[in-house]
Amino acid sequence: MTSPSIHGRDGSNDTLPTNHVTDELLAAYAAGNLSEAQSLLVATHSALCPECRAAIAEFEAVGASFLEEIAPESMRAGSLDSVLARLDQEEMPANNVVQHPSSYSAPDRQIGEVLLPQPLRGYVGSDLRDVTWRPVIRGLEEAELKVSGPEFNVRLIKVAAGAAMPQHSHQGEELTLVLTGAYQDGSGRFARGDVQIADGDVDHQPTAEPDEACVCLIITDAPIKLTGRLGRLLNPFIRY
Ligand SMILES: [Zn+2]
Repeated sequence: MTSPSIHGRDGSNDTLPTNHVTDELLAAYAAGNLSEAQSLLVATHSALCPECRAAIAEFEAVGASFLEEIAPESMRAGSLDSVLARLDQEEMPANNVVQHPSSYSAPDRQIGEVLLPQPLRGYVGSDLRDVTWRPVIRGLEEAELKVSGPEFNVRLIKVAAGAAMPQHSHQGEELTLVLTGAYQDGSGRFARGDVQIADGDVDHQPTAEPDEACVCLIITDAPIKLTGRLGRLLNPFIRY
């Protein structure tokens, strides 16, 4: 028997995220130095997290005053071109397609029961229900998102209510952002807006809570490594 979930149903009574992206990621995002994949995750988390939106604004302000300070020094003859070239590089990253959270004008649109954060909409389509899910194993489906750059695999996963992901570790870094529902692993509970950062030190088996399916945005920079008894035999089949 479960009580009705109060999380993420209509957006108005969402609890705020308690697990955030790192300051390093926020600062790099503010400086425009993230890959498109990381940028998408940070922007989507920040759309759900006032605390990280404020931190990004602070980093941007610090960055702007820093540029003002170094600009006069850099204006020696002949250096203007290189400064402008550097600014071009820094201000026109490939990840510009991911809108800054503070520039959002439209309110989150309701999609089924779930509010899809704006940064994701250009990737997912107009409606979560339009996503073409590919079954992976029983209780687990995924949909790969097209993001520029070869370094990251970016996808949505949907874990059925009460279902467990295969026990796995990581060969690189895995960033998981919960969009709907919630899951738990040995380290805690992750609900809408929460980010879990896992690397080779983390061996876990995320399990969706029993009352609703859990949809997450996941980016990985190397395939995961299945560590369960059966999972070890399946590693050759795992693409991420
Ligand atoms: Zn946050």
